[in-house]
This record gives sequence, structure tokens and C-alpha cells, in this order.
Amino acid sequence: MTSYTELGLVNTVALFKKAVSGGFALPAYNFNNMEQLQAIIQACVETKSPVILQVSSGARKYANQNLLKNMAKGAVEYAHELGCDIPIVLHLDHGDSFELCKDCVETGFSSVMIDGSHFPYEENVALTKKVCEFAHSRKDYVSVEGELGVLAGVEDDVSSEKSHYTQPEEVEDFVKKTGVDSLAISIGTSHGRAKFKPEQCTRDPNGILIPPPLRFDILEEIEKKIPGFPIVLHGASSVPIEYVKIIEQFGGKLPDSVGIPEEQLRMAAKSAVCKINIDSDGRLAMTAMIRKTFAEKPDEFDPRKYFGPARDELKKMYAEKNKNVLGSAEQA
Ligand SMILES: [Zn+2]
Repeated sequence: MTSYTELGLVNTVALFKKAVSGGFALPAYNFNNMEQLQAIIQACVETKSPVILQVSSGARKYANQNLLKNMAKGAVEYAHELGCDIPIVLHLDHGDSFELCKDCVETGFSSVMIDGSHFPYEENVALTKKVCEFAHSRKDYVSVEGELGVLAGVEDDVSSEKSHYTQPEEVEDFVKKTGVDSLAISIGTSHGRAKFKPEQCTRDPNGILIPPPLRFDILEEIEKKIPGFPIVLHGASSVPIEYVKIIEQFGGKLPDSVGIPEEQLRMAAKSAVCKINIDSDGRLAMTAMIRKTFAEKPDEFDPRKYFGPARDELKKMYAEKNKNVLGSAEQA
């Protein structure tokens, strides 16, 4: 058994407090490999931002949980070596069972999400409460994120055809009964790189899809019910059109790509939203650079020569997100 403090990690409690009062959101970036982790740490050290490293159950299967845990430990040491001991959280993204959450808590995660949002309300309450009781009773308190409302889209092992918005009248009861430290809500964000069907969108004069706006009215209602309580947005990639264009220019096909405009995320970050999950944008940035490198340098076969540019682009993008979207720069 490993406690996260042995790895140099922190839980989310103090960070969320600061984010709520400071009007910013913590970046929650997923990683499965070394280049992604390097980019995240470099960007967050450069911008002096705290960071939540997210591991999905898909990532655990892909990369091996022990390897990922030790990479997180390495990330703490890497940040130190780069000259800034930014707070680093290791968080399980979309835990789907008590057993998985328990396993993560016992092996060094400082935060877990239990996603019971697809269950009937009472079942979601019971499962989330069970995870909270376990995670909170550890010598080192592990923080827990719950979810109410369902996001549409596909993300690793999580998928749903239809979204339904979080019902503001449920949140107070849910938070009280379960003891969660933060709550993921559904107000119109969505997993994946095609967040809305074209028929749900309008188009600008260039034919670019404009998504329906986030439901800030629902967010406001929720804030009224649980003032100052940390809110989480999943599926909050903006799906930059420039990356989609590079990918398609060099042979990729990503029709009907559309994300959440960054201005709306910036607005959300200034409210009780204090954790914003961004994964698809990182996938797009890396894929764009790898496709470009392959096309422009057909004789290149050293993985460092295409992972390197992908990593550098990813770092640049995350630094921009911290500064201009989340507002987490200079908050470490
Ligand atoms: Zn998610």
C-alpha cells in the first residue's frame, strides 16, 4: 500500500478552496505516456500553475497502473528539478466501481472520481457515499469527485448517446448525503471532439460549426443551492479548428468537429467551477504535429523526432490554457 504523500502529491481540498475564492479553475489534464506528462509538467511549471494529473481506467489498462503511479512520482521530482514545486494531484478519472476507487486510493492516488451518474439517483448516492467513507477515512485524506447529470459523447470507457442536464434541486441533497469534495455537473459540455451534432449547431460565414452555448442559467441555480462548493466541468475541450485543419490537411478525417468556445470556459472558471477537464484538445495537438512531421519528413523514423514536436506543441497549448482559459497561472 502506498499513500500519496509518500509520492509528494496533494489532494484537492486546499487547491479547490483557493480556486473558488480566487475565481480560477484547476487544469485537469489526462496522461497515458511520457511525452504527455512532460508537456503537462513543463507547461504548469512555466506558468506556475497547480495541476491535476488525470488517469482514466482506459489509461490504467493501456499504460499499467504501477507505471503511471511512478510516473506521477517522477513528475513531482521533475517539477522540482525545473525549479518550481507546483502542487500536483493524481486523480482517477471516471472511476466506475467502489473496487477501482479503493484500489487507486490504496496505491497512491490523492483524489478519485466515482461516476455513478448513469445509475438511478439513490444508487448514485449510495455508491458515492461508500467511496467517500473509504477515501476520507485514510490517514491521508483522499478527495472524492461525484457526478450528477449525464454528459453526451465518448471518452475512453465512458459513453452516452444523450446528455441530461444536472437538476439543481438534487445537488444539495447529493452533496450532503454523500460527503463528496467536488461535483461534476452537466450544463452542455460533452466528451470527445465532436461535441454536438451539426443540426444542434449554427454555422459562421465560413461554414464553421458554432455550438449551442453552455447553460449558465443551470450553473447559477446550482451555485445558489450549494454556495462556494467546488464544481467540475468534464468534456471541456475547445477543439481548436487549427489542429483539425492540420490533421485533415495531412490525411486525417475528423468531420463535424466542434468543441466548447474558450470564452465560455473562461466565464465558467470565474464562477464556482474550479476544475476543468481537457483531454481531446491534447489528442488533437499531438496528432496534428505527428501527421505533419510524417508528411514533411517521410524519411524520419526516430520516434523522438515526431513525439518531440508533438510534446512541444502540447506544452505550448497547455500553457496557453492555464494563462488564458483557466486563469490558473501564477496560482501555484
Ligand atoms: Zn469526463
